[in-house]
Amino acid sequence: MADRPRIEASVIETPEFRPPKGLLEVAEGLETAGYEAWAVGGAIRDAVLGRPRADWDLATNARPEEVRRVFRRTVPLGLEHGTVGVLAADEAMYEVTTFRLDVETDGRHAVVEFAQDLEEDLARRDFTMNAIAWRPATNEMRDPYDGLADLSAGVLKTVGEADRRFAEDYLRVLRGFRFAGAYSLEIEPDTRAAMEVAVPNLGMLSAERVREELLKVLSAHRASNALRMYGEFGALDGWYDEIADAPRDPRWEQHLASVDAIGPHRSFLRVVQLLLSTTERGETEPGRAESLLRRLKFSNAEIRRGTHLVEHYLPFVHPADGSASIREWLHSVGQEHARDLFRLHFASARASGSTESERALVYTWRRVHDELIGGAPIELDHLAVDGTDLLELGLPRGPLIGLMLEELLAQVIESPERNERETLLATARELIELGGLDSLEGSLAE
Ligand code: ATP
Ligand code: MG
Repeated sequence: MADRPRIEASVIETPEFRPPKGLLEVAEGLETAGYEAWAVGGAIRDAVLGRPRADWDLATNARPEEVRRVFRRTVPLGLEHGTVGVLAADEAMYEVTTFRLDVETDGRHAVVEFAQDLEEDLARRDFTMNAIAWRPATNEMRDPYDGLADLSAGVLKTVGEADRRFAEDYLRVLRGFRFAGAYSLEIEPDTRAAMEVAVPNLGMLSAERVREELLKVLSAHRASNALRMYGEFGALDGWYDEIADAPRDPRWEQHLASVDAIGPHRSFLRVVQLLLSTTERGETEPGRAESLLRRLKFSNAEIRRGTHLVEHYLPFVHPADGSASIREWLHSVGQEHARDLFRLHFASARASGSTESERALVYTWRRVHDELIGGAPIELDHLAVDGTDLLELGLPRGPLIGLMLEELLAQVIESPERNERETLLATARELIELGGLDSLEGSLAE
């Protein structure tokens, strides 16, 4: 693969770690108290790759209660997993986890026991590149599974026998896609074959773990690499049924590119973009989006937001639209969603490579933005009158009030200068006198 990070062998042989001061302080605290402190996992992997990061975790032979005795400021982060958060002088929190050993696994969770030595702890880790340990006190490295060599060769490989490791915890399959995608790794043949065998069992996982894993995939700069693997391995079946056919669509690559075109910090919007990849663009039934989001146990607010965005993806505003049409559109999609809808369309335009569409979107957005900052009335509570005013005019309490307000709003959206109390009250009076109420009532019956 062309974009695999090139790693100089010499860098790999003598990796130089520059952890944050706070981590060294925590490690020293443990060592001084007579325990071992090893940095393991993501931070070591990323340091070797020359990608510095802030969250360094430590593994130790100290038991959680011992860790809490060593430090003044600790937070129990999951004592059952053996994790204690330690606040360092730099006010950052470092996770210290006691060496663990899986004693029982069933594909979705493990019964763990504390272990005495590092080797046992490394043996339960998923991939060779995640099982490299470094001890700050002695500058010692432990790499019993040749993770450094795999990293430098750009290979993703399980620790130990692949079939067994995935069967212990099927989430490792999805983690594997994420790591292989994020670092452009080749998947070692046995690992790959075992992934294929394991994919049909992904249904055993909990929705929460699958969802969190997706969000991690989506927070990588180029999420498409891992998502493409989800498609290739059939891992969309089940959890992502509604989009499981998308990889067979000739536009799949373009859909993936449109996910990448949204900033990685907007991971939920990336989920929505992914949902839009079913069938025709924008023809995703909101119901299907909703059922997928619900299956993955997104929050109710996220389900509402995601479904709403899918539902209102089309029709969209057009550069030639008059300002009244723009305001009508804002009213129908809800102004708080306008920006997100533009982001989705912008990402699609970018993925399609059409600079013309991008330019048109920039132009249209400027006009939408002008309406927004100009404070044009587009929602009921922007109206210069409210329900009480209409009651005073003699309208009966009930749904007619709402309909009358909608009617007035429609007029105001068309001509914002009409948003004056007296003007609107006069209009309401006219409508009542002209029997406009009958037609409003008629629309109630529809
Ligand atoms: P990142 O934080 O960048 O997602 P990470 O490697 O730190 O990557 P975490 O999920 O934070 O990933 O886990 C920390 C370490 O714990 C991993 O590097 C790996 O060694 C181990 N680990 C995490 N989850 C599993 C798992 N399901 N099976 C085996 N080992 C795991
Ligand atoms: Mg981590």
